[in-house]
Amino acid sequence: LHDEIIKSEKMRVVSDIAASVAHEVRNPLTSVRGFIQLMGKHDLTAENRQYYKTICLDELDRAQQIISDYLTFAKPEPEKIEKIHLNHEIEYVANVLLSYANYQNVQVLMQLPDEVISVFGDKYKLRQALINIGKNGIEAMPDGGQLTFTLRRANRSLIISITDTGVGMTAEQVNRLGTPYYSTKDKGTGLGTMVSFSIIRKMQGNIEVTSEKGKGTVHLISFEAK
Ligand code: ADP
Ligand code: MG
Repeated sequence: LHDEIIKSEKMRVVSDIAASVAHEVRNPLTSVRGFIQLMGKHDLTAENRQYYKTICLDELDRAQQIISDYLTFAKPEPEKIEKIHLNHEIEYVANVLLSYANYQNVQVLMQLPDEVISVFGDKYKLRQALINIGKNGIEAMPDGGQLTFTLRRANRSLIISITDTGVGMTAEQVNRLGTPYYSTKDKGTGLGTMVSFSIIRKMQGNIEVTSEKGKGTVHLISFEAK
């Protein structure tokens, strides 16, 4: 019975996410449609035509960003719950982030233990959660810096930390993390942390963020060792 309850809870979360992706992507698509219609008018100046085209491209980029915050790694349903080797997954995620990091002059570092540490969950979802957090870290370091992933066991906890040497946040900004549409970026979606936090919570994990303005940010993700 307990398993069934957990399962239906997971199914609910999954369909929530599917519903919100559909909802979020519909807005930019609707505005692209509207502007394409406007572009069909005869009396359009070249200047206006160019302007509408720019809006369309921006809106399409936005739709793409939204999809990537939700679904870069998360595979379509059903969720597959398996034993996840955190050492491997962290290495995988660090590698995926590497080209984005290089482009921004950011070094990606890892401190992994010799023992293999694992948790149960959907590994594609966990990848998505870590990528969204890692990407934010890189974006917080426009002048370069270091993004460090560590994994360790502490008493009854398994702890992943993701640390950046970026711009940091005020306590008020930290508080708003995970709430939908909170973004300070020109082209931000404000959905990345919400997706990450909900994935971690669904895995019965806990996430704690510590940040200092001008110094950087630490994300501590912990799971109970089973
Ligand atoms: P987005 O990245 O699209 O803006 P997110 O939900 O991923 O949306 O992040 C929300 C906001 O939280 C960001 O716009 C940024 O202001 C802040 N933030 C998240 N992670 C960090 C970080 N590591 N350093 C500084 N600010 C961050
Ligand atoms: Mg983000």
